[in-house]
Amino acid sequence: MFWSILFYLIIFLFGIVIGSFLNVCILRIPLKQDIVKVSSHCMSCDYKLKWYDLIPLFSYLFLKGRCRKCGAKISPQYPIIEATNGCLWLLVITVKGADVESLLYCLLFSSLLALSIIDWRTYEIPVGFNIFIACLGIVKLALDIRNWLNTLLGALCVSLFLLILYVITKGRAIGGGDIKLMAACGLMLGWKLIILAFCIGCIVGAIVHVIRMKVSKADHVLAMGPYLSVGVAVAALWGESLLEWYISILGI
Ligand SMILES: [Zn+2]
Repeated sequence: MFWSILFYLIIFLFGIVIGSFLNVCILRIPLKQDIVKVSSHCMSCDYKLKWYDLIPLFSYLFLKGRCRKCGAKISPQYPIIEATNGCLWLLVITVKGADVESLLYCLLFSSLLALSIIDWRTYEIPVGFNIFIACLGIVKLALDIRNWLNTLLGALCVSLFLLILYVITKGRAIGGGDIKLMAACGLMLGWKLIILAFCIGCIVGAIVHVIRMKVSKADHVLAMGPYLSVGVAVAALWGESLLEWYISILGI
C-alpha cells in the first residue's frame, strides 16, 4: 500500500515537472522564442526567477500567484497546466499499467495538452509536436516490430482521407497541422483506434463548437487540434473496450 502510494506520487511529481516545461513551450513556441536557452523571468518586471521560484505547483501556491519582486499576478495557467499534466500521467499509468509503452503514452498526452492550447489560441499546431509524436510512434513500433502493418495503416488511413479533403476544399475544411497530427498519432494508435479517435474528435468538436458559437459567439473558425487530441486520448485509454462494446451492440 505504502509503496504503491509512493509510486503514484512519484509519477504525479514527474508529471508536474514535465507540465512546467509544457508551460514554457506553450508560451514561447508561438513567439518563436528559444525554449531552452532563455531563462524564465517575470513578465512585468523582468525579475529572473530563481530555482525556488520554479518548483512546479508549489512555488505558485507559496507565492499566492504573485511575483516575488513586483507582486504582479502570475497567470493561473501555470499551475493548471502543471496539475493537469500530473493528473494525465496518473490516469495513463492507472489505466495502462506501469511499463515502457505507458511512458510513451504519458509523453503523447503531454504533447497533446500543449499543442491543444497552442492550436486553440493560434489556430496552428507547431510541426515540432507532430514530429515528436511520430518519434514516439516509431519507438513504440521498435518495441513490437511485428505490428508494422497496423502502424503503417494507422499513419495513413485517416491522414490520407483528410489530405484528399484538404486538396478538394483547397484547405478550407481542414488544416495541414491536423493532417500531420492524425498521421503521427496513427503511428501510436494503429488503424482501428485512429479511426475511432477521429470520429470521437469530430463528434466532440461538433457538439462543443455549436455550444460555443451559441453561448459566447465564438469564432466560426474551428481549431480541430484540441478535439482531435481528446479523441486520441480517449481512444488510447479506452478504445479497445469501446470498439468491443460497439461491435457487440451491432451484433456482428
Ligand atoms: Zn515581477
